[in-house]
Amino acid sequence: MPLHILERKDKKYLSGRSKTSENNSELSTLDLGTIEFMKWLISKDTNSGDTLVAVKDYFDNKYVILFDKSIPRDVIVAYRDGMPWCITCNTDDCGHVGFAICLKQDYDRDDHVVY
Ligand SMILES: [Zn+2]
Repeated sequence: MPLHILERKDKKYLSGRSKTSENNSELSTLDLGTIEFMKWLISKDTNSGDTLVAVKDYFDNKYVILFDKSIPRDVIVAYRDGMPWCITCNTDDCGHVGFAICLKQDYDRDDHVVY
């Protein structure tokens, strides 16, 4: 058994990305969106840019445009009667919705003046 081949294979595997997204976003649950929002908040202060999600646009109580690097594509979360709905995933319980809920709470708390 040529052991060195196995070792090389392992190293190659480890150097690549361990998870494949299979064309689906890694943000598949509300919780993951919440976690990603926390990372985004921190990276906003440090300018690290090391987040899965980038906020492209925010319109209070209308919609949020996010960029999901795991897909990668733009994701639109629209607010319907104040409740966020992910148009891209066609659901209200994906990570983008979780992210949008946190984003809205953050804006509300900071008392931003929206014009
Ligand atoms: Zn979504």
